Amino acid sequence: MIFLRNDVDFLKQKVEERQGELLDLVKTLITYKTPAPPARNTQEAQEYVGAHLKKLGYTVDMWDVYPNDPNVVGVLKGTNTGKYKSLIINGHMDVAEVSPDEKWIGDPFIPVEENGHLIGRGAADMKGGLGSALFALQLLKEYEIELPGDITLQSVIGEEVGEAGTLQCCKCGKGAEADFAIVVDTSDLHIQGQGGVITGWITIKSNQTYHDATRRNMIHAGGKLVAASAIEKMSKVIQGLQELERHWAITKSYQGCPPGTNTINPAVIEGGRHAAFIADECRLWITVHYYPDETYEKVTKEIEEHILNVSKGDLWLKDNPPSFTWGGTSMIEDRGEIFPSLEVDSKHAGVQLLSQSHYRTFHAEAKIDVSPTVTDGGWLAAEGIPTVIYGPGDLTNAHAVNEKVSIDQLVDFTKVLLEFIYTWSHKEKEEENLNGL
Ligand SMILES: [Zn+2]
Repeated sequence: MIFLRNDVDFLKQKVEERQGELLDLVKTLITYKTPAPPARNTQEAQEYVGAHLKKLGYTVDMWDVYPNDPNVVGVLKGTNTGKYKSLIINGHMDVAEVSPDEKWIGDPFIPVEENGHLIGRGAADMKGGLGSALFALQLLKEYEIELPGDITLQSVIGEEVGEAGTLQCCKCGKGAEADFAIVVDTSDLHIQGQGGVITGWITIKSNQTYHDATRRNMIHAGGKLVAASAIEKMSKVIQGLQELERHWAITKSYQGCPPGTNTINPAVIEGGRHAAFIADECRLWITVHYYPDETYEKVTKEIEEHILNVSKGDLWLKDNPPSFTWGGTSMIEDRGEIFPSLEVDSKHAGVQLLSQSHYRTFHAEAKIDVSPTVTDGGWLAAEGIPTVIYGPGDLTNAHAVNEKVSIDQLVDFTKVLLEFIYTWSHKEKEEENLNGL
């Protein structure tokens, strides 16, 4: 065991000494222009990651999730694979979009150092985390430290636009199994779970189309036309959603989430065909945030039930009830997304070890809480892999103009990650069972 600690201390010292190389690696990643939207631009960046992993002896899989947007998964089998604990490290290569009117101090894709920070698109979300992970794996290789457990690195696409490259990894079996997973996304080095998000469309449709001149007949005495404007009827649905949102705020809670985090946002409304017609169709695009201990199946069922009950109380909607379409695989292809929730079990051996690794670098307890945003971590958790979010950078910087990350934090994160990788990989799978977990 003393020998193991020496290895870890040696590696952490090397991170300190070689932090210039760590920064160069993160800067290189930022230099690749990978904003999503527009997406379809990660090929070169992913090839760079693939080549880096190959150099380190990893078996690398690279496949197109969309044209010019490939996933990269590298696996390094341990020296005692199957007996020792395995780990997935996951990060996304795409970054938030940059609008032409944003006032950056320079080109967002030419990173600069300023006042102890690295500035550039993706510095915090999350090329800082991804670059640090790649550097940690590089050091293990260069100092010829062989690990008994398997290590998988997933560099995925599409996270910013709900395209869930991570889900593709799970579906293809490339990273569908591990004893623990760390999503090295923006968490300011808190160990985090997350609530879930699902988008949906609520559609009100009339089975007949009427001329604008018939409106009098459908709204005034003696008109004798039982019909309605789909746009006007949608206002009842919106009101119903607000009632349910308030009911959720009052009745549901989750430790670590501010009350009322479970919101239903009427984000986009589309309807009507022309000013000469009564609107015969109206579609509402909603974003639903739910708590870490809920599933999207459960919350969408609650919404459908409530809105259908509201409809039953309306003389036209009762015969023309709204329909629902949930989720989607891309905000830019089919206008829908799902981010499953993720609960952190603070008693899990991986979480405890990560806390200890954090403590040894910072001499302060790691905060375990809930991310106010969403990451791909929910997909890994949905595969049954105990997963946490733990990465450098804070959310005020993610997606922001002059996005930045603290250089000290990158260095410290790399140290914690190295200590965790090393120690976790030296734990026997059986140890967990013996502890009765
Ligand atoms: Zn991110």
